Amino acid sequence: MSHPKKNTGKKKYRSARQDTFQLWRSGELEGNEASRDRSTREGAASRHKRKNPSRNTNVTFTDAGHGILVEQHRRTCLVRRNEEEDLICRYSPSLNLDEYGMLAVGDFVELGQDPDSNEYYLTKVKARESKLSRPGPPDREHREQVLAANIDQVVVVVSLKEPEFNTGFVDRYMMVCEASDIRMSLVVNKIDLDDTIPEKIREFEKYLDRVVYTSVKSSQGLDELRELLFDQTSVLTGQSGVGKSSLIQALLPEKEIRTGVVREGDGKGRHTTTKSTLFEFGKGWMIDTPGIRRLGFWEMDASDLAIMFPFFRDIDQCKFNDCLHLTEPGCSVTEAVDDEIVPIFKYESYLRILDSLKRR
Ligand code: GDP
Ligand code: ZN
Repeated sequence: MSHPKKNTGKKKYRSARQDTFQLWRSGELEGNEASRDRSTREGAASRHKRKNPSRNTNVTFTDAGHGILVEQHRRTCLVRRNEEEDLICRYSPSLNLDEYGMLAVGDFVELGQDPDSNEYYLTKVKARESKLSRPGPPDREHREQVLAANIDQVVVVVSLKEPEFNTGFVDRYMMVCEASDIRMSLVVNKIDLDDTIPEKIREFEKYLDRVVYTSVKSSQGLDELRELLFDQTSVLTGQSGVGKSSLIQALLPEKEIRTGVVREGDGKGRHTTTKSTLFEFGKGWMIDTPGIRRLGFWEMDASDLAIMFPFFRDIDQCKFNDCLHLTEPGCSVTEAVDDEIVPIFKYESYLRILDSLKRR
């Protein structure tokens, strides 16, 4: 089931994006550079210069094709050039990111190679088709943080058990996706571990693009998951131990993907530090990197939360604009909870998130 507010006219847009991705991938997408050669400005270029005073910034790179940014670090980044080929690249001194602030996973980039050292350089960033971003931290609100670019959807993976289903993680992701206008689906894995799906999970069916119930053990729902992800560019994320690697492995049996082990007894997934990887899937790809995962713990202002919490959005305006929906008079949210229009577990999730913000 999908929410009526979402999806309108998106399908057409989505397929247009697919075409662009294909064109870009085949090297036929012309122009549209997000970066220009203005190395005198502040930014990655000058930072690079300071760090590498001896480096010759006038070097002419030989064309080394293009790729997708998979991972970024302070001085280098990882770029998927061809299938299965991740290159470590430095940032070109001429790369100017002023317009974009910073690079993001999923950015389409052009590469050059230093003919002397043979090192790869990221030379250009293409204009983004879409972005998953969150506002900057409270003290630097203007600094929007783009976490992923050129993606069709976010797919959050949770598990029914082991580890226990975390409502707050999904709720937080919903806020970011809505603010970024990126559709979001939920995968509930390990459904072999219990016969019943609790109401607090079912509730998401009303609000998200899709909710897919899967089990790697019994193969249930894997076809539906394949259909959700195939030919799409997806951020596939979730807390450690929910079974992401196992699911990807099930979808791509020919690839070797490391799977972690759940520790006996405590039900918590052990953290495996696999290198972040981008998996090509049909005409699209799926990616999960630690930076994107951390978005599930996004710290926002209490007032932002009160306004953005997705399960309150169809409720009338409260008496006070800055209502935190606690004990304020004329609060429509607490009224809706009392009238069971908003399920109590959603209100509790809101309170937990609010509480976590206060305790920072
Ligand atoms: P990741 O951290 O999200 O990549 O999780 P993993 O794929 O490493 O899986 C964590 C643990 O959960 C492993 O021991 C898997 O065997 C197990 N697991 C994954 N999917 C399922 C499932 O559908 N059912 C059950 N019972 N266990 C699963
Ligand atoms: Zn209120």
